[in-house]
Amino acid sequence: MSQETEHVQCLIIGSGPAGYTAAIYAARADLKPVMYTGMEPGGQLTQTTEVDNFPGYPNGITGPEMMEDFRKQAERFGTDVRFGYVSSVDFSSLPHKVVVDEIKTITADTVIISTGATAKWLGLPSEQKYNGFGVSACAVCDGFFFKGQDVAIVGAGDTAAEEATYLAKLCKKVYMLVRRDEFRASKAMVHRVLNTPNIEVVYNTETKEILGNGKNVTAVRVLNNQTGEESDIPVEGFFVAIGHKPNTDIFKGWLEMDETGYLKTIPGTSKTTIEGVFASGDVQDHYYRQAITAAGSGCMAALDAERYLAAKGDEVRVLS
Ligand code: NDP
Repeated sequence: MSQETEHVQCLIIGSGPAGYTAAIYAARADLKPVMYTGMEPGGQLTQTTEVDNFPGYPNGITGPEMMEDFRKQAERFGTDVRFGYVSSVDFSSLPHKVVVDEIKTITADTVIISTGATAKWLGLPSEQKYNGFGVSACAVCDGFFFKGQDVAIVGAGDTAAEEATYLAKLCKKVYMLVRRDEFRASKAMVHRVLNTPNIEVVYNTETKEILGNGKNVTAVRVLNNQTGEESDIPVEGFFVAIGHKPNTDIFKGWLEMDETGYLKTIPGTSKTTIEGVFASGDVQDHYYRQAITAAGSGCMAALDAERYLAAKGDEVRVLS
């Protein structure tokens, strides 16, 4: 049940590069933005290694440090950054209603959604059983625990390639389980993987089960989908890097989404089909999914929100 109510001009949901960039622009435009960070302040980049492709950091920077810089910059211009998650929304009338932590209702003239996306899992019971005991979806967070040991990573995209090379620096051996006979990752990343001596790429291979002794992972059971042969690869760690799901469950029924749940925006803008509601970052972009493109779309959302409010103001002045 909602107990407290507060009105804001601009509410930003989510604290990745899109949310913080929207906050910087909205704050500088005097929209007095309030941001709710979600359960993972800083978003996905807080789980990544070196970020070498974000302009302005000639020597690279770690994801967590970069997000800390984003936060400081947003706060410097007056963004009210709050820890909390949005539990439901009601976009049926203006102002929009957003419930935070299931108890507090915020009414907002504009809402910028930057809730990002979350890592996918294989869906095996053993994956759940050993999650945190040898199974992880974040090499950067947990790779350290497998120093000098053998690990496997499943996936063949840029994330898997990046994480495999990261793990290879720490671990004795990294088995990369690729379900087809080719990668999805970019050529540069594949090149890096294939030139890392302690990564063994195992093609045409599906994960059947993660084996353990009840406490820790001891091996991964794999199936060669060409020969039908099953085998066990002894490993102490198992990393999942098979893509992401957009964090849009709370917007179901309110906003238009594509078949995989990514929010739809009017092309060339951050506008959703609901007036005053804007979307930016990975939550509406399954294609580029980069920190820099997310940041750019956060800027677009703040400008769209500002222009929407300005036009509304003109409307009110003309009518009164
Ligand atoms: P992707 O969706 O690109 O790749 C997912 C990978 O996981 C695919 O290879 C897919 O196999 C595999 N996969 C999916 N389900 C299973 C399963 N059940 N069993 C085995 N394998 C499975 O996700 P990423 O997270 O890698 O990348 C997302 C986006 O982010 C991409 O656009 C990528 O380019 C970008 N990115 C860029 C980086 C950079 O530039 N530094 C770093 C990281 C990501 P299959 O190929 O057979 O479908």
